[in-house]
Formats: sequence, structure tokens, C-alpha cells
Amino acid sequence: MGTIIDGKAIAAGIKEQVKADVAAHKAAGGATPGLTVVLCGDDPASQVYVTNKVKTCAELGMKSELKQLPPSTTQAQLMALVAELNADPTVHGILVQLPLYKHLQDGPVLLAINPDKDVDGFHPINVGRLWTDQDGLFPCTPVGSLELIKGTGVDLKGKHAVVVGRSNIVGKPMAALLLKQHCTVTIAHSRTVDLPAVCKSADILVAAVGKTKMLGASHVKPGAIVIDVGINRDANNKLCGDVDFEAVKDIAGFITPVPGGVGPMTIALLMRNTLAAAKRQARKSK
Ligand code: NDP
Repeated sequence: MGTIIDGKAIAAGIKEQVKADVAAHKAAGGATPGLTVVLCGDDPASQVYVTNKVKTCAELGMKSELKQLPPSTTQAQLMALVAELNADPTVHGILVQLPLYKHLQDGPVLLAINPDKDVDGFHPINVGRLWTDQDGLFPCTPVGSLELIKGTGVDLKGKHAVVVGRSNIVGKPMAALLLKQHCTVTIAHSRTVDLPAVCKSADILVAAVGKTKMLGASHVKPGAIVIDVGINRDANNKLCGDVDFEAVKDIAGFITPVPGGVGPMTIALLMRNTLAAAKRQARKSK
């Protein structure tokens, strides 16, 4: 059986490191890093996510605030709140939880966030920084997935990485990060011809599709690193990924479970981004 990658343990290690770095930053006279989470939508999962984000900040010695907006919020009111948070020097990170209420557009809101406070790493300025190898804030889930890949200790240079999914928040940034590690990267998507053959050629396979157990034994090369980003529910309403774990675990060299793989990494990397944002703003204000 392949090694099961323990995302919970690796995420806990990152959070401990962030906690120590926050303490050192404050001891050196730095401002307490502050994250403001804006909840302006009614997706039931969002409430759980934002509560966890705010709680974890406090655990690591950072300041956090939840701005919960009613369904009557207009686009102009939401934009005004983002402008206010951009101007507030005690707010280092701004996260607008998606999805928004149906009558609101997320594009203009994400574009309005100061890129140096964009802890989700979704702003086109940060996307550009990622693809041009500059320092910036990068999306938490793919960065967390890369940490899990690096944690295997496998030398990534020259390895063939296949990322299934080309979304702006997972697939594309994941590909950029793997490219930066000198992998040869293929991005597969819904129009890819012969997906099993493409996936089977991967030394590193990252699944970011959102389809229950879509990738099985015919998609995995023996010994491959398999990272399952998907969060789905099976017929019994049980949480599961895009990879059929039972079918693949004896073929893969390393594999992440769902839950307990990529999921815990996302929040840990959000914490790291918030501290990085605070440090970046401190440097720029000097
Ligand atoms: P999107 O729906 O934005 O993108 C899904 C991608 O999968 C698209 O690029 C799509 O291709 C591709 N796809 C769909 N069907 C197929 C198929 N049959 N064969 C190959 N490719 C296919 O999803 P996200 O990227 O936002 O999320 C992906 C998954 O990751 C979801 O389950 C989501 O819940 C999870 N997720 C988990 C996070 C975590 O913290 N663990 C964080 C963020 C997401 P095309 O572009 O051609 O349509």
C-alpha cells in the first residue's frame, strides 16, 4: 500500500510555525497581523468555513474579524466595505467568502481588493506575480497541495505532473507552482482526449475536478504521488474526493485521503498568507 499523506499533521506543523513567526514579528515591534473575513452569501458551508478561519487566526495570535452582511446588501455597499478595509492599516488580509448572494457579482469585488491584502491570491496582479516568478500572495489550496507533494521527499525536478482541472483557484495556480518546481506539467480538463492515458503517464497526479471518485485504478501509474483536492459527497452523503481511494491506494506511492488530506492545508496556508501580507505591508510602509 502507498504511503497515506497526513494533511492534518502537516497542516498542524505549518500552523505551529506561523504561530511562532507571529510571536517573533510582534516581539520585533510589528503590528498584530489582522484578517477580515467578509461573509455576504447564504451558502451553508460558508458559515462553517468563515468561523474556522476567524477562530484559527485567534489561536495563532492574529487579529480577526467577521463582517457578516445581510441579503439586502447592494453591490455598491459591498464595494464600499472593501474600500474601507483597503484603507484600514490594521487590516492586513481581506477575504471575501464565495459564493456571494446571487444578485451580486464577485469579479469586481475581487478586483477591488488591494493585491497586497489579497490573502486568497485571486487578484490578477497576484496571478501575474505567480506566473512571472515574483513574490506575491498565492492561492492557499494549491500552495497547500504543493507542500504535501514536497513532504513526500521525492525530487520533483523533471517529473511529469498532470493536473486535472483548470479553474483559476485550483488547477491553473497548481500548474504554475509545479512548473516552478521544474516539473513537466500537463493540464487536463473536460475536453481532454483519453484522460486515463494522460493521467497514467503522471508521476504526480493532482485531481481538482469536483466529481465523486472519478479517477480510479486505470488513471494511476504505479508509485505515483496522488493529491486529491476534490470535496464531494458519495451516495451515502459521506465526504469523498475525486479519486477512488480504495481502488488507487495500493497502486499509488503516496496518496492523500479525503477528508484529512488537502482540506486542512487550505486554512493553514491562509494563516501563512495573512502573516506574509502583514510583513509585506510593514516593509512597504518603511
Ligand atoms: P471548478 O468546477 O471550477 O473546475 C473543475 C474543473 O474540472 C474544470 O476545469 C473542468 O474542466 C474539469 N472537469 C470537469 N469534468 C471533467 C471531466 N469529466 N474530465 C476532466 N476534467 C473535468 O472546480 P474547482 O477547481 O473550484 O474545485 C475542484 C474541486 O476541488 C471541487 O471538488 C472543490 O470542492 C474542491 N476544492 C477543495 C478545496 C480544499 O480546500 N480542499 C478548495 C477549493 C476547491 P472544464 O474547464 O473543461 O470545464
